[in-house]
Amino acid sequence: MSASSDVLIIGAGLAGLSAAYNLSKAGKTVQVVEARDRIGGRAWTDYSFGFPVELGCMAIHGYNQGNPVLGYAKTLGLETKLLPASPGTLFTKDGPLDADLTRRLHTNIFLAMSHMNKVTSEPLSDSSSAADILLSSSSPLYTGLSETEKEKATALARAAEIGWGISLEEASAHWSGWASGVAFAGSDGIVVGGYGKLVAALRAAAEETGKASFVLNAHVSKVDKTNDGRIQIHTSNGQVYNGRAALSTIPLGTLKKLTDDFFDPPLPARKSSVISRTAVGILEKFGLLYDSLWWDPAAGPFTILLENGTLLAIPISSSPPCLHVLVSHGLTGLSADTIHNILSQAIAPEKMVPKPIKAVASRWKDDELSLGATSSPVRVGEGRSPLDFAELARPVWGGLLGFAGEATELDHRGSVPGAILSGEREARRIQALLDWQYVV
Ligand SMILES: Cc1cc2nc3c(=O)[nH]c(=O)nc-3n(C[C@H](O)[C@H](O)[C@H](O)COP(=O)(O)OP(=O)(O)OC[C@H]3O[C@@H](n4cnc5c(N)ncnc54)[C@H](O)[C@@H]3O)c2cc1C
Repeated sequence: MSASSDVLIIGAGLAGLSAAYNLSKAGKTVQVVEARDRIGGRAWTDYSFGFPVELGCMAIHGYNQGNPVLGYAKTLGLETKLLPASPGTLFTKDGPLDADLTRRLHTNIFLAMSHMNKVTSEPLSDSSSAADILLSSSSPLYTGLSETEKEKATALARAAEIGWGISLEEASAHWSGWASGVAFAGSDGIVVGGYGKLVAALRAAAEETGKASFVLNAHVSKVDKTNDGRIQIHTSNGQVYNGRAALSTIPLGTLKKLTDDFFDPPLPARKSSVISRTAVGILEKFGLLYDSLWWDPAAGPFTILLENGTLLAIPISSSPPCLHVLVSHGLTGLSADTIHNILSQAIAPEKMVPKPIKAVASRWKDDELSLGATSSPVRVGEGRSPLDFAELARPVWGGLLGFAGEATELDHRGSVPGAILSGEREARRIQALLDWQYVV
């Protein structure tokens, strides 16, 4: 039996780290319990090539638009940098698209997305999908294009599935773009050295307060409220941790698979039904390392539009040469060799391209501690709305058990700021709750 803490936090991803950092700074004792042998969760920087390759989050979206990562990085003494914006090169199975067609397709996509966000501000049926609007014959997506160009426009529209993790057919048209006025977007940056630096710095700053401790390789198997109103969390290796309050940052995909008695008393029916009806999208990443450069770095990023999905290959280093590849949901399960073959045939069909000398890959879909990449945008179907993300955030047990994580921030779901802001939100709420308890 471990000593008691003010707050027990399940999960040391960015939501758990942000909560631990903010609570410990506020003087609360915190015990973070993490199932993996590392902290960071879906912020996972691989350094095995000798430089950072992000297998989870990479970009600081909305770098110049107020993303809170910048504030944390500055406070923690980390360097960040703005990335140059570049349309890169588009490829279909027929080869590269010329600059004029690429420009026209990008313009049409922008107009089609704006059109969808405008028409969806009017009442639409819950069963209207993004595909119904974006790919309709009257969509601005197809303005001024020949029949063969229209096929390419459809394929480019499907590139949105990389970020959404679900198909255009599954995504609700009604709620499309609902958060676009507030979500961080417009310019992209990175944490120099990778998100792993931010993860490590948050843990170090929390531990420096002397109030926070972390335990790894500790899989939480049960959370309960005792008769005297305290919280106990049990791990599968038999440890029990006691706290006055607890915060679960268990990802939505994993939450869906928990047995009914994981939380005791059980979660209210409304929360359980929202956990079931929300979805987790799929996105995987590869890092491919080569011993010689076979692409033109100035032509990247390379977007390969295929029939069943999209590959986005971003050159992240020329010496040694390395491609960072994002794989949309329709193409997951492919090996690094197959990904390499698709890329080399599209980008350099005439060349003898060397095979990668090393490869790293994520497997978020099958990872039992995430079971997918991030929460998906609202799906088609009756009763679903962004309010579901607010329900995922609602505490239970009189406020003593809170929920944080990317899926709980309705304006910023699916992102690093979503995770960080959810940790901040719960740290503030739990702090107030515990301070109030001291008074009574
Ligand atoms: C491939 C990919 C690319 C992305 N790209 C970007 C990007 O470029 N920019 C951006 O802003 N966002 C991006 N994101 C999203 C971002 O990475 C996530 O939103 C964020 O990292 C989620 O943090 P979290 O704390 O909510 O969850 P997690 O990081 O998943 O943390 C949850 C933690 O809980 C632990 N856990 C789970 N179950 C248990 C249990 N029973 N007991 C103990 N511990 C448990 C897990 O091991 C994990 O460490 C990307 C995500 C993915 C997967």
